[in-house]
Amino acid sequence: MELDGQIALVTGGSRGIGLAVARALADGGAKVAVVGRDAERAAAAAASLSGGGHVGLACNVASPEEVNYTVSRVEESLGGVTILVNNAGITRDNVLVRLKDEDWDEVIDVNLKGAFNMTRAVARGMMKRRDGVVLNITSVVGLSGNAGQSNYAASKAGLIGLTKSVASELASRGIRCNAIAPGYIETDMTAALNEAQTELLKERIPLGRLGSPEDIAGAVRFLAGPAARYITGHVLTVDGGMVM
Ligand code: NDP
Repeated sequence: MELDGQIALVTGGSRGIGLAVARALADGGAKVAVVGRDAERAAAAAASLSGGGHVGLACNVASPEEVNYTVSRVEESLGGVTILVNNAGITRDNVLVRLKDEDWDEVIDVNLKGAFNMTRAVARGMMKRRDGVVLNITSVVGLSGNAGQSNYAASKAGLIGLTKSVASELASRGIRCNAIAPGYIETDMTAALNEAQTELLKERIPLGRLGSPEDIAGAVRFLAGPAARYITGHVLTVDGGMVM
């Protein structure tokens, strides 16, 4: 299989999009380290993947110390990370004037600094091996902005800047870095939408439905694999045509 011999680390791999991504990479032959805040959920997710030999670890991606420790544990148990998927993300939505400092900081710390922490922690090994793929899960709102989500949209736009900078800086070391920008995907994150809101959203989506985690996982598996060997610094929207 195309990902045989690869070691993948998926943040937020215990639920939703991250779990579908972990499944797709394992189905492609990779050994996967599933990282999430909740240790039991991460371990259960790792045990559910095809192929065996995967690990689940608890780590808050916002903490550089926890991230460095987690990456060293993955390297000891599975080997050097060759595919990093920065997927962990949170929302703390509110209109600008009601947005609290802690809601701004937490979203930036998890969504943007978390990706920086992880990328920095795996980059040295990837540079030594002159091989690696970093994939950042951003959002279409990082491209378009969204009322009531200034913290979240800023974190996702920041991820796009991080993606392009890492792609430029590490291309000569054989490392590719791309971003995937999902539209509305059915997960816990979007579960609060009521039926009327969902119908309104569908009207804005040319393909006429919300996305599934598997829709994103397919794009990740492609960008992680050899078929994407000449793609770097790209933002791939996977949104049913919502933002063109
Ligand atoms: P979920 O809320 O379903 O899952 C979030 C995952 O991130 C969980 O595994 C959670 O772990 C983990 N996580 C959250 N905070 C941290 C942290 N500090 N450290 C480590 N892990 C953490 O989200 P989705 O699957 O919907 O979203 C995944 C990604 O896709 C996010 O980055 C999101 O912004 C992005 N996205 C989602 C869209 C959607 O419509 N759903 C649209 C566009 C982008 P635990 O289980 O332990 O809590």
